[in-house]
Amino acid sequence: MTEQGSRLDPWKQSYAQRTAGMTASEIRALFAVASRPEVVSLAGGMPYLSALPMDTVAETVQRMLATEGLTALQYGSGQGDPRLREQILEVMALEGISAHPDDIVVTTGSQQALDLVTRIFIDPGDVVLAEAPSYVGALGVFSAYQADVVHVASDADGLVPHALEETIQALQAQGRRIKFLYSVPNFHNPAGVTLSLERRPQVLDICQRHGILVLEDNPYGLLGFDREPYPAMRAASEEGVVYLGSFSKTFAPGLRVGWALAPHAVREKLVLASESAILCPSAYAQMTVSTYLATSDWRAQIKVYRELYRERRDAMVDALTAQLPQARWTHPDGGFYVWLTLPEGVNAKAMLPRAVTERVAYVPGTAFFADGTGHQHVRLSYCYPDPDRIREGVRRFAGVVQAELEL
Ligand code: PMP
Repeated sequence: MTEQGSRLDPWKQSYAQRTAGMTASEIRALFAVASRPEVVSLAGGMPYLSALPMDTVAETVQRMLATEGLTALQYGSGQGDPRLREQILEVMALEGISAHPDDIVVTTGSQQALDLVTRIFIDPGDVVLAEAPSYVGALGVFSAYQADVVHVASDADGLVPHALEETIQALQAQGRRIKFLYSVPNFHNPAGVTLSLERRPQVLDICQRHGILVLEDNPYGLLGFDREPYPAMRAASEEGVVYLGSFSKTFAPGLRVGWALAPHAVREKLVLASESAILCPSAYAQMTVSTYLATSDWRAQIKVYRELYRERRDAMVDALTAQLPQARWTHPDGGFYVWLTLPEGVNAKAMLPRAVTERVAYVPGTAFFADGTGHQHVRLSYCYPDPDRIREGVRRFAGVVQAELEL
């Protein structure tokens, strides 16, 4: 043990500085509590996998192993399985993207793609622009690489273009180096909003004029309830956008298969970074996804998910309307999340212990801001509990808010 070490952690003085930015997310701390059966969890973002035809998946895996097991269990390409990369083109075509399979890097979930992009672009102190609020897992990555996250206002139509322009100008006037804009344009996690069709070219134009890359993170794009997907920003800009996709929400997160589509030179760096991190993504997982895409009606499965989540969104929004008229919330037309603004004076983080006692869990808004603001907000997920549980959860939640107001 070093002199400065403690009995709890003898290596305390040895860690790299960047570990100071690594803290357990608020969501992780919540998981243990939220997974108790008596608690209605409106906290997690877990897809409702019981809606997957498990027999079909089992057959898929069995067939794949029987015919291609030696390849599936072997090391594979650092960039990812060429056959899967071809199939990913079909998935992205649904959002208007045309690309070459060579420009795709398969990753261990899109979370690893977030890590790789951040790793190749960010030096400590560089600025990342991100919607206010922003996906907690991305904030964790940015902080681990010592980026400074600057939030940009977002409303019911997503990121606000004039706020983006003003923020960039102010930062550039201070001589700050802005590396990229991180955006979740569809059915935002946690805000539940979608970047409007009008705003997409405006956001691209602003970033292009200022030489700022757009990191378009799109795991929920195919999960719209009432309409076909909007064209991705990447569909309009090949050079200015790194696009991230994932099979976690449209198929299964346990396989950990996502991807990045990047301009050629960026893609080369992403592959090198990925090879140094993991050598290659799991061939087994990729070939499972690939066989599933080739042999089952994956579009029909996405439709099943869309209908299921729409019913749950309705259950949540109707219950909120009935039970919590004092609050405001976004009305998602896809994805997993409602973003709720509590009545004045109620603090989401301070209220959480009472909520857990009342057997309901949610994520306080503070998780989704790099600066720890957001006390008045709550993320509620409707993806996992069934509609009756959602109604019961909202009833308990409304009771907790009411009790806070009466304090
Ligand atoms: N981005 C966003 C916006 C997400 O919500 C998630 C998952 N919650 C991810 C990325 C990571 O997904 P995965 O690694 O499972 O593809």
